[in-house]
Amino acid sequence: MPILSRLGMVFAQKWIAGVSISDAIRKAREINGNGEKVIMNYLGEDLTDRRKIDSEIMCYKELLDSMRRNRIKGAISVKPTQLGLFLQEKLFAESLDGIAAYASKRKIFVWLDMEDYEFVEKTIDIYSRLLQKRKNVGICIQSRLRRSYDDVKRLAGAGARIRLVKGAYKYTDDISYMYDSEVDANYMRCAGYLFKNSDGFMIATHDSHLIEECRRLERRYKKRAQFAMLKGIRGMLAKELADGGEEVYIYMPFGEEWFRYSIRRLSEEGHALLLLRSVFQG
Ligand SMILES: Cc1cc2nc3c(=O)[nH]c(=O)nc-3n(C[C@H](O)[C@H](O)[C@H](O)COP(=O)(O)OP(=O)(O)OC[C@H]3O[C@@H](n4cnc5c(N)ncnc54)[C@H](O)[C@@H]3O)c2cc1C
Repeated sequence: MPILSRLGMVFAQKWIAGVSISDAIRKAREINGNGEKVIMNYLGEDLTDRRKIDSEIMCYKELLDSMRRNRIKGAISVKPTQLGLFLQEKLFAESLDGIAAYASKRKIFVWLDMEDYEFVEKTIDIYSRLLQKRKNVGICIQSRLRRSYDDVKRLAGAGARIRLVKGAYKYTDDISYMYDSEVDANYMRCAGYLFKNSDGFMIATHDSHLIEECRRLERRYKKRAQFAMLKGIRGMLAKELADGGEEVYIYMPFGEEWFRYSIRRLSEEGHALLLLRSVFQG
């Protein structure tokens, strides 16, 4: 690896679990040792080359074998456009089904990341069809989107497992809430619905206020949620939650595409300084 890349990698290791499957497994073991579970994500998106998509699927299968062999406690997460959605819906549906079947034999759960708005409807559609035959797959829903409360109701009603996030993509105000306070209010509206109506869901946020509110709902409804945070962000809070008896997952991306992911984390609006601070504070 050239010197600049090596330097960048040292910096990026805060929120990336390395380049190879063995790097990621090593990190996953450490995290499991801390009492937290992992969500492993092999970095890749917007793929249009069929051979590249097939090789990503192979990599996920290798990862699933390795997780099983090493008794890693956790799940994997895949991106729709990594598995062919950019190219063809049918290809994505088949790729996801193949990975879910492989994971199911190894008793591993598969999460579906949610990407940009243009893919939301198709992702939910294909997921809903898959849900009729596979129960080991869950879907991410973004509270930033105006449509999400209805999606949560419909999906939860069909038995879906939902990972609730605020949403990493910015949209126009016809499809998305524009103010943080609205995004947060919709987050709690969706979470409230899940606490009342769903048996398994994931609260994926680093926002202490939302986490506190959800813990209050846990007590009120006598129901446990899973909590999840990204590797390298608010690690101390994640540890506190795990030590307090919560089921906590750390989302760990890895792979050759680490540079693009790191730049995205850095450029997330308003987060560059927080991220720099987290690099030094943990
Ligand atoms: C497990 C997991 C999976 C996700 N999957 C998806 C997905 O599939 N699709 C999608 O669109 N989005 C996804 N996201 C990203 C999510 O949508 C948000 O962009 C991201 O989590 C920041 O929002 P927040 O809920 O933490 O709240 P914010 O209000 O953004 O942050 C709350 C607090 O957390 C801390 N914080 C947050 N981000 C950072 C940072 N980068 N550096 C340092 N401190 C930070 C700060 O203290 C901040 O005040 C995922 C997030 C998590 C945790």
